[in-house]
Amino acid sequence: MTSFLADRFSYVFGLGKSGRSALGYFQKQNLPVKAWDDTLETRQVLDPTLLQDPKDVNWSHVERIILSPGIPHEGPKANPALIAAKDHNIPLVVDVELFLERALRHPNHTIVGITGTNGKSTTTSLLTHLLNHLGKKAIAAGNIGTPVLDLPETNEETYYVLELSSYQLTLLKTPRLDVAILINITPDHLAYHGTMEAYVAAKSSIFEQVQHQKGVIIIDDAYTQQIYKKNPFLMSISTETEEGKISIHQGILKDKERNITFTLPTLSQLQGSHNAQNIGACYGALCHLIPETFCMETFIEGLQTFKALPHRQEIVAQTNQVIFVNDSKATNMDAAEKSLKTFQNIHWILGGEGKVGETPASLKHLFPHVKHVYLVGSSMDFFEKEIRGLIAYTRSHTVEQATDEAFHQSQKGDVILLAPACASFDQFKNFEERGSVFKTCALKLVDQYHE
Ligand code: ADP
Repeated sequence: MTSFLADRFSYVFGLGKSGRSALGYFQKQNLPVKAWDDTLETRQVLDPTLLQDPKDVNWSHVERIILSPGIPHEGPKANPALIAAKDHNIPLVVDVELFLERALRHPNHTIVGITGTNGKSTTTSLLTHLLNHLGKKAIAAGNIGTPVLDLPETNEETYYVLELSSYQLTLLKTPRLDVAILINITPDHLAYHGTMEAYVAAKSSIFEQVQHQKGVIIIDDAYTQQIYKKNPFLMSISTETEEGKISIHQGILKDKERNITFTLPTLSQLQGSHNAQNIGACYGALCHLIPETFCMETFIEGLQTFKALPHRQEIVAQTNQVIFVNDSKATNMDAAEKSLKTFQNIHWILGGEGKVGETPASLKHLFPHVKHVYLVGSSMDFFEKEIRGLIAYTRSHTVEQATDEAFHQSQKGDVILLAPACASFDQFKNFEERGSVFKTCALKLVDQYHE
C-alpha cells in the first residue's frame, strides 16, 4: 500500500454503501482520511470532523481519492472536484482496488472478477453457490452482498467472487484477478461512458486485470466476438451456436477440450437462453479454478440447488388465473428481451428512466408474446411514440396503477410482467424498491381476489 506522508490523507468521495465502507477501512487502521458527499443529507449523518469540502481541499495533501462507483470523473458530466483532483494528478481508485492490493498479501485467496452488461449478479451468486457446493469456501462481493472492504482480512483459503461494473473496471490497476469473466456486451450506460467504444474498452479491460491469462468469454454478441479475436487464449463459450471451445446450446453442454457432452436437466431457477450464458460462464470458471476436483454430477446438483436472486424474473404472486413476475432488474432492453422471450400472454409494465439510444420498438419481434403494454415513468411519452400502432397500450404513469390495470384486464393463463427496460431513478430509490412496490401491489390484488 502507498505510504502516507505527514499531513497527507485519503479522500473518500461519495458516501454510499462502498464509500462508507472505505471510510471505515481507513479509520480502523488509524490512517488519515477525510470524506465528502455532494448530498447534504448524506453528509449530515457523518462526524463533521471527518468532512472536508472539496472547495477547501489542499490537493497537495491528498494521497488518493476513493471514488464511489457511478460518480462521473470523465466527459461532459465529470464532477468538478474530480476535474480539479485530476489536474493535480491525484490517483482515483475504487474500493475494489484497495481490496485487490490487500489480496496481494494473501496468495491463498483466489479472486474471480465477473462483468458483462447483464447477468453479473446472477453469475456471481451462481458461481459462489457452485464453489461452496463443491466444498470450497466462497464469498460473493463487489456490487453484490458485502462491500469488499467490510470483508474481514483472513489467512484462510478463500474464493472471492467479485461482481465488477464498467465504472470500477475503468479505475482498476492491480492485476490480481485469478480468473476474469465477460458475459456479454450490449449498449448500456452510454450516458456515463460517452461512446460505445469507451464502454466496450471498459468491459474488455477486465482481461488486463487477470494473472496467467485465465479468462472466460461468452461469444454470443459482436462485441465479445471482437474481443475474443484479439485474445484467442480466452476460454470461449457460445450458447447460440456450437462455435466456442465450450457450448451450451439447446440444453446440451459440449466441452471440446475435455471431450465432454452432457444434457442439462430442466432448471426452474435458471430458465431461458440468457441463463445458459450464466451457467456457461460458471462452467468455464470452474474449469480454470478447480480442473481436477470438479465433477459434472456435483456441478449439476449445484445448478439444481441454486435459488434465483430476487427481482430477476421472480414469481412474486399468483392466482389460479395469472402469475406476477418481478423482473425489476431488467433495466435495459436487452434484459427485458429475455423476459419477453421466456413468457407468453404478457401484460408488460414498461418504462422508467430510459437509456440513451434504446427503444421498445427494437423488441417488436417479440410483440406476439405481449397482449398489452402499460407505460410508466418518465419515458412514457417517448415510448408511446415508439410503440403507437405496433401494439395496444395504456398510459398508466405508475407501477401501482399499471399493476392494477393489468390485473383487471388479464385472463386465465396470462403473465403480468414488470420488466421496465429502464433505470428506476425517476420514481424510485433503486430497482429493489420498484420491485417491492410491484410485489406489494400484486399480493394485495391476489388477497382481494381470494376474498
Ligand atoms: P446484472 O447484475 O448484470 O444487472 P442480473 O443477474 O442482476 O445482472 O440480471 C439483470 C437482468 O438481466 C434481469 O432482468 C435478468 O433476468 C437478466 N439477465 C440475467 N442474465 C442475463 C444474461 N446473461 N443476458 C441477458 N440478460 C440477463
